[in-house]
Amino acid sequence: MAEREPIGVIGTGYVGLVTAAGFAELGSDVYCIDIDESKIEGLKNGKIPIYEPGLTELIEKNRERMHFSTDISDALEHARLLFVAVGTPPTYSGDADLSAVHAVVASMPVSDHHALVMKSTVPAGTGDSIKRLFKETGKEQFSYVSCPEFLKEGSAVKDFLQPDRVVIGDDDDWAGDAVAQLYAPLDAPLVRTDINSAEMIKHASNAFLATKISFINEIANVCEATGADVVEVAKGMGLDDRIGPKFLQAGLGFGGSCFPKDVTALKQLAGNSGYHFQLLNSVIEVNELQKRRVMGKLEKHLGSLIGKRVGLLGLAFKPNTDDMREATSLVLSARLQAAGAQVVAYDPIAEEEARKLITGIEFASGAEEVAEGADAVVLVTEWDEFKALDFAMVAGKMKGDLLIDGRNALDPDAVRAAGLVYEGVGRGH
Ligand code: NAD
Repeated sequence: MAEREPIGVIGTGYVGLVTAAGFAELGSDVYCIDIDESKIEGLKNGKIPIYEPGLTELIEKNRERMHFSTDISDALEHARLLFVAVGTPPTYSGDADLSAVHAVVASMPVSDHHALVMKSTVPAGTGDSIKRLFKETGKEQFSYVSCPEFLKEGSAVKDFLQPDRVVIGDDDDWAGDAVAQLYAPLDAPLVRTDINSAEMIKHASNAFLATKISFINEIANVCEATGADVVEVAKGMGLDDRIGPKFLQAGLGFGGSCFPKDVTALKQLAGNSGYHFQLLNSVIEVNELQKRRVMGKLEKHLGSLIGKRVGLLGLAFKPNTDDMREATSLVLSARLQAAGAQVVAYDPIAEEEARKLITGIEFASGAEEVAEGADAVVLVTEWDEFKALDFAMVAGKMKGDLLIDGRNALDPDAVRAAGLVYEGVGRGH
C-alpha cells in the first residue's frame, strides 16, 4: 500500500470514531482527540463507547494505526489535516450550538501547514465565520475545508467505505486536494465545490429526506381516512424513478441526532436571514403530530389509558443503534405516562442510553416480558428480532389483544392469525 497521509480526528463520537477507523482501514495513522477523558481512557483499552455494527471489529483490526489522546498537540504534531467531528446540538433558539466547534477553532495554533476539515454539520456561513476568526487572530494561513458527513447510524461503517458521494468544499488550496486524495481509494462520486455550497448540501439533503418522511406520513394519515394502504401506495410511488422507494416508509415520525436538529437549524438559518421557510415548518409540525398519533389509536381501542399497561418494543430512534437522541420513544413514553398508563419497554441495545433519558417506566429483559399482562403492545423501533416474533406467544402473554405496528414492519396477517388486533400506520381499514 502506498504511504497514506496521517490525520487527526477531533471528537470521537459516532462520526469521529467511524471516520477515524475508516481512514485507518485505508492505511492512515489516525490521531483521535476527545475532551472526554473517560472515553479516551476506554478507547485506549479497547472499549468502544457506542454501538455501531462492524465498528468494534474495524477498530480492533486497525489498532496499531489508531492513537487516542485528550491532547490536541498529539494530532497537530503528527497530522496536517484535522477532521472536526464534535457535536453541534440544537440550542433553545433552534440555531446549531457551535460552541464545541469554536472551542476547537480557538485551540488551533498559528500555522501555514494545517487545515481544519469540518465533518460536523454546521450551517452555511460557518466556514466563512471561522476563516474570519482565523484572520482576526493572526491565523489566516490556517486552511479550512468543509467535508460534510452523510453516514447513517446503524450502517455507518459501510457508509464510510461505500459513500454515495464525497463532498469537498474548499478555497482551492492544498487542503481540498489532500482531502480528495484521502478519499480517492473509495472511488466515490466526488463533488468539489466552494465551502458555503458544501455546507448547504448537507443541510438541504437532510431537510429533503425529512420532508419525504413527513410527506409519506401525511399520505398514511389520509390512507387511514380513505381505506387505502400506504404500503401499497408507497410501493407504487417508489417505482417512479423520479421518486424512488427510499424514505417512503410511513411510521411514528423521524428522530435521531440529525434530522430534527438539522431541519430546525436550516429553518432557523433561513429565518435569521429574513426568509420564512414555510415547507420546513410543516415538515417539523407533521413529525411532532405523528409521534403522538399512536395515542389516538390506543384510546380508540382501549378507551381511557388510566391504569392500562402498554408495552413498547424498541426505544432507539431506529434499529441497529443505541442512539436515543430525539427518539420517538421519548415522546411516547412521556405521553403515555401523562395519560395514566403504566409503561414497560424493551430495547435490545439502547436500554443503558434510554435509562439516562426516560424515567417512570419499567425496563423489560425481552419482548416476552413486555407482552406479559399488557393491554396493548406498540412496536416503536423495527429491530429484526421483533419482526421474527412469535405472535402466538405474544397473544398468550398479553391481557389485551392490541398490537400497534408503529413502523409497518410486521406482517398484518401473521399478527391477526395469532388472534391479535393489528393496527399499522396508514394500513387502510
Ligand atoms: P457525538 O456527540 O456522538 O460525538 C461528539 C464528540 O465530540 C464527543 O465524544 C465529545 O466528547 C467530543 N467533543 C466535544 N467537544 C470537543 C472538543 N472541544 N474537543 C474534542 N472533542 C470534543 O456526535 P456525533 O453524532 O458523532 O456528531 C458529530 C457531528 O457530526 C455533528 O455535527 C452531527 O450533526 C454530525 N453528523 C452526525 C451523524 C450521525 O449519524 N450521528 C451523521 C452525519 C453528521
